[in-house]
Amino acid sequence: MKRNLIYIAILIYMPLHAQHTIPEVIAEEIKTALTYYPELENTPIEFKFKKNIKKSTMQAQPDFGSFFKSKRKRSYVILISETVKISDTTFLTKDIPSPVLIGWIGHELGHVMDYRMRSNLNLIWFGFKYLVFDKHIIEAERTADTFAVQSGMSEYILKTKDFILNNSNIDEEYKKRIVKYYLSPEEIMHLIEKKDKEETLNAAL
Ligand SMILES: [Zn+2]
Repeated sequence: MKRNLIYIAILIYMPLHAQHTIPEVIAEEIKTALTYYPELENTPIEFKFKKNIKKSTMQAQPDFGSFFKSKRKRSYVILISETVKISDTTFLTKDIPSPVLIGWIGHELGHVMDYRMRSNLNLIWFGFKYLVFDKHIIEAERTADTFAVQSGMSEYILKTKDFILNNSNIDEEYKKRIVKYYLSPEEIMHLIEKKDKEETLNAAL
């Protein structure tokens, strides 16, 4: 009996890569998003469901214990809200269409890319600014989106935006937040064009 329970626990939180702890129900989506970030292969990241996250669906943060380690040894936690509130009805995050979820996870991994280059002190200051200054939230969210687009995830990121912005059932307040803080679909298109041009130029050299 006990052995079965342990076996089930291992299945539920099966680490797909030694560095990544992933809940089984959204393992496919997380795995797909991670393939776009080979840089994070050896970065410890724990993906974890949480009952509710204030004002957002997912949240990437450095693991608190990491502040006593060097930046190379830092680990991260990506919290995923179990539910998303749509007007009066809430629905389960795991039931969101796969490409939308992949885009969402891609954005969070964009935050990790941003964090991993910062020193501990810089990260503490970054967290403080995020809590206090609206302007800084905009900068942080757009940086995460940009990392995701640069990593080749634009299609997924656009699907996530489309899902939120063009869904009549989604809470207006939530939509307003997305418009205010994140890159718009037009800006993402511009980034893609710029990236394509750079790639063509590099190929020509
Ligand atoms: Zn974000």
